[in-house]
Amino acid sequence: MDAIADFLSTPWALACAVGLGGIWGSFFNVVIARVPRGESIVRPPSRCMSCQAPVRAWDNIPVLSYLLLRGRCRRCGAHISVRYPLVEILTAAIAAGIYWKFVGADASGPVAIRLGRFAVYFTFASVLIVLGFIDLDTKRLPDAITLPGIVILFFATFAAHDAPWTERLIGVAAGYLFVRLIADFYYYVLKREGMGLGDGKLLALMGAVLGWKSLPVVVFVASVVGTAVSIPILLATRDRAAAKSLRHVEVPFGPFLAVGALVYLFVGDQILALVIPAG
Ligand SMILES: [Zn+2]
Repeated sequence: MDAIADFLSTPWALACAVGLGGIWGSFFNVVIARVPRGESIVRPPSRCMSCQAPVRAWDNIPVLSYLLLRGRCRRCGAHISVRYPLVEILTAAIAAGIYWKFVGADASGPVAIRLGRFAVYFTFASVLIVLGFIDLDTKRLPDAITLPGIVILFFATFAAHDAPWTERLIGVAAGYLFVRLIADFYYYVLKREGMGLGDGKLLALMGAVLGWKSLPVVVFVASVVGTAVSIPILLATRDRAAAKSLRHVEVPFGPFLAVGALVYLFVGDQILALVIPAG
């Protein structure tokens, strides 16, 4: 076991986490594109969006293939969205960060718990990445991912030995009810659509992993980041008609909630220590 523990602290192990993240990121691109269309995520294998040519294995290496092909399909030359390598880089970076914090040189605890934390939190972050981009594309958070995600992640998180299960169970209920109350308030009092219930299921999923104490931090960070991103977009739209129509456009909140949950995963303990004085 000591040999394993020694290896886990090396840069080689961190590099493995980066590689693993890139490969999963490549798969998430497929999931993000196909789940909203109700298509299978395993069949058929990746294809060019333009000419339908199957992507060969050596043209499907995360980030590298995009650079070698200069962002174009090998067969028809169609432009490949820069978002594909960006999702791969994002996933690899988050995998590295989770590895560094929970497994690598700075982490403490038995090897089994450290690896359990990596598995659980990387799975959690993966669900957030996939849901964040699907929400960005379609303004929907599919039940097909959120509902099983809540159940599976609630039980999987026992392997992380972090937030007590009671706090996580309360987190599921509190996350959903918080959004439900806001949605009902908008619907019955203000007579218009506010937050979607998809956001409530996403927040429940976050509570299932991080516990209820995380929820105020997640919502606060999401609101700050969401405002910081939306205001420049609104200001940049000089055209009044466009600005007016933009105001009626539903801004997806899921991606910002995902950012909030990731911030909490990495520095939540420090944030809570600032807000709640020790003692
Ligand atoms: Zn093509």
